[in-house]
Amino acid sequence: MKIIPLGTRGFYPSFGRHTMSFLLYDERSMFILDAGTGLARLKEEKLAALVAKYEMVHILLSHYHLDHITGLPYLAGVLPHTKFNLYVPSPPFSDVDGPGVIHTFLNPPFFSLSMTDFPGFSQLIEITQARLEIEGHLLEFMRLKHGGGSVGIKIDRTISYITDTVPDPRVVEFIRGSQLVLHEVWMTGDEAAAKPGTPKIHCSYPEVLDMMHQAAVKKLVPVHLNPAWDEAAIRNIFHERVMTGLEVILPMEAEIIDF
Ligand SMILES: [Zn+2]
Ligand SMILES: [Zn+2]
Repeated sequence: MKIIPLGTRGFYPSFGRHTMSFLLYDERSMFILDAGTGLARLKEEKLAALVAKYEMVHILLSHYHLDHITGLPYLAGVLPHTKFNLYVPSPPFSDVDGPGVIHTFLNPPFFSLSMTDFPGFSQLIEITQARLEIEGHLLEFMRLKHGGGSVGIKIDRTISYITDTVPDPRVVEFIRGSQLVLHEVWMTGDEAAAKPGTPKIHCSYPEVLDMMHQAAVKKLVPVHLNPAWDEAAIRNIFHERVMTGLEVILPMEAEIIDF
């Protein structure tokens, strides 16, 4: 499978990077993980041509914080010729009823259309169980420790997507065996040390490296990047080769990660 980051920021877009969204595809299937402002990139020529080769895109949401769903209304405009299914977490993977959230967000007064009016809309599917098969691909889910809930996603036991969570030993077990892990990195070790006592809602880079080490993961793509970091800061932070045996791949938006 190949990965194209569409949006890599947490919270808000900055320095040319959109909020969270990732395109994953192989010859037969196309998935999108999260629907932040990065979905706007589907209108870029190269990406539009790629998506147009597929009859169906499967879009999965990790949770409902705005940096992960702000792009949902864009689907009315950025997917004119491709159908999409939207997979939304519900209890026990979320504290809220997924279809209810989508119904509220994609209707007046927040948007003029309902999702059923979108040209590409096909089905709204709730994530309520730990496994789901989509076009022969195995999708596995775990609930992450995040306000309201967030869902860690693993595809074909190969790629794991873990965002909006505190460091969690359960994540280590979930990602074990993955070839590549997209994991949130919200703070540097120094930034975390400078703010002791603030409520812990995200992970620092050293904490993520420690989890990759424990899970014997070989490739890390840091995502949900802090919007305060410009490109120079990002290069600096992830240039540090803190451990051997781990390749840290810096995600560039609209560029393929082929691994
Ligand atoms: Zn977020
Ligand atoms: Zn969140």
